[in-house]
Amino acid sequence: MNKGSCLCNKVQYEISGGFDDVLNCHCSMCRKLHASAFRTRATIKTKHWKTIQGKSFIKFYESSPGEHKGFCSECGSSLFTKFDENPAVLGFPFGTLDTDPKVKPTRHIYVGSKAAWHDITDNLPQQQVFE
Ligand SMILES: [Zn+2]
Ligand SMILES: [Zn+2]
Repeated sequence: MNKGSCLCNKVQYEISGGFDDVLNCHCSMCRKLHASAFRTRATIKTKHWKTIQGKSFIKFYESSPGEHKGFCSECGSSLFTKFDENPAVLGFPFGTLDTDPKVKPTRHIYVGSKAAWHDITDNLPQQQVFE
């Protein structure tokens, strides 16, 4: 069981299952959403996500048609992404975890959009797209 919370702590959640396809996404949307060099994210099963507290604070921004970025409306922390086309899974960025998920990224994607001020210094595969 993993646990996490947003910056202001109003939203608290648990994830009861595993993490698939852990990767670092360097696309410009992830960089802007997280105000960071890249977003480390995984895919999780929607049924494994449980909001323990603060459900009413979670608001959604439709970043692409059918793709909704869930965030804390109080502090702005990015919490998860839900997909109209595939409601069984969520995109989950690791930044708000309070526990060790015991998995690490296995690749970089959208490296063509990488921030000019950031250097990738590991030996993980670098890909131009998400596939
Ligand atoms: Zn918050
Ligand atoms: Zn991205």
